[in-house]
Amino acid sequence: MASSEGALDILVVGGGPAGCATALQLARAGLSVAIVEKTRYEEPRVGETLSPGTRGLLEHLGVWRDFERAGHLAAYGNAASWGSEVREERDFLFTPYGHGWHLDRRRFDADLAAAAERAGATVWREARIAEPVRSPQGWRVVVRTPGSASTISARMLVDATGKAQALVSRLGARRRRYDRMLALYSAFPIREPIADTFTLVEPVECGWFYSASLPAEKPATGSDRVWWVALMTDAHLCRRHALRSPAVWSGLLSGAGRTMERLGARPVPLRIGVAPAHSASLEQMHGDGWLAVGDCAASHDPLSSSGIARALDSGIRAAGIITRLLSSGDTVANRTALDALQASHETDFDRYLATRAQYYAMEQRWPNGEFWRLRQREITLDPASRLIAMRGATSPAYWPAELEPLDPASLIAACREARRAADIVATHAQRERIGDTRIILGLQWLLRARVLGEASPPRSRGPH
Ligand SMILES: Cc1cc2nc3c(=O)[nH]c(=O)nc-3n(C[C@H](O)[C@H](O)[C@H](O)COP(=O)(O)OP(=O)(O)OC[C@H]3O[C@@H](n4cnc5c(N)ncnc54)[C@H](O)[C@@H]3O)c2cc1C
Repeated sequence: MASSEGALDILVVGGGPAGCATALQLARAGLSVAIVEKTRYEEPRVGETLSPGTRGLLEHLGVWRDFERAGHLAAYGNAASWGSEVREERDFLFTPYGHGWHLDRRRFDADLAAAAERAGATVWREARIAEPVRSPQGWRVVVRTPGSASTISARMLVDATGKAQALVSRLGARRRRYDRMLALYSAFPIREPIADTFTLVEPVECGWFYSASLPAEKPATGSDRVWWVALMTDAHLCRRHALRSPAVWSGLLSGAGRTMERLGARPVPLRIGVAPAHSASLEQMHGDGWLAVGDCAASHDPLSSSGIARALDSGIRAAGIITRLLSSGDTVANRTALDALQASHETDFDRYLATRAQYYAMEQRWPNGEFWRLRQREITLDPASRLIAMRGATSPAYWPAELEPLDPASLIAACREARRAADIVATHAQRERIGDTRIILGLQWLLRARVLGEASPPRSRGPH
């Protein structure tokens, strides 16, 4: 086995969207950087829908033109039958950015790594690091590739290994994990032209299915598109009910009527792939000589469909701070920037958890289903309580997208005078044609944001 020595400014472990965005930006800033990626980008990767707004990040990274040429498919929106049988759609064409994309995810990640290489970064594929050792100058790390081992010194390390958290777990960083969600997925060739290109989400008792049509490698599948279908469930349910068995999985799929409609004949999977899909966050996303980016720092439920954009954004932000740290050292300004990064990491994750809880609370069809019980926040609003808008109340700074089309201003207007919560819900549901649960959650949100308050009960008039 050949061995060598080398020195770098930054070693990035993990070459997904977050690691590549970090390395690309650092290389453009003139720093010496390398990515250690464990794969050759040849195996399937999960996570495939890009929202329209991600274009801005790709432009910022200077990869937009390559992305346009790569043959990813246009995605026109999301649809869900969440909380009822009714299919509700969110059409991307009504956003300022136009359509989104269904990715060939292998190609997307491999192209980002190639862009980082063109910008001057080194990419070691099929590579792993061995125990990193801290030194006064930085780090010493052994990087192993097939047939070689190099000892590399680096001033800083970045963990971009996603949910694997391969580096920070060795550095003793504390992780909080909020569930044990898994994706159990399969892909089926599409033989006929299809009109419905939305991503479709459909709950079932032990979780929810999502499906999307994705680009496929033609020789492998005999078709240039596949239906990608994943069941999102919990690890213990997967074990208890043997959900990885193709027969059990496809039995559950046949209970998801809207998904079956789009797939046509009941497909029989040969094999079910598994990927972790839990929500987790690091207590500290940076430490002595290291920083975590992307899913490694905070990973979100795939329902949010925003992990790739978050990963790119996190890499861009981290690269900015690292560039300043390595040029000016441990200054007050740099410490303030790191504190601000940590604070926004925590606030964003708290906000995400609140939104996730609101969203899961909207699905009440399986009150005894374990998957749902574990995620549902109770409805706490007392129907007899009397709600009133606080003086000068305006819509809160943040309103979860999942509560739309409910308008906070219309709820505030409904509470200009103290009214019983049950009456507000009933009249609003009838007037706006919106489900009760969404209105109750909206009122709870406004109460927590102190936009609404509880009025004291009306005084009894007493005997004459
Ligand atoms: C089922 C599912 C569906 C999803 N759907 C969407 C979606 O539709 N849209 C969306 O935006 N997001 C989606 N996501 C989330 C999205 O995939 C992630 O948020 C995103 O990939 C995070 O990027 P990352 O670079 O931080 O991590 P990753 O993409 O996980 O990249 C980590 C990289 O590190 C490498 N690596 C791991 N361990 C090591 C090691 N020890 N040494 C070296 N390299 C290592 C991996 O090979 C990989 O290249 C989904 C996630 C799941 C689980």
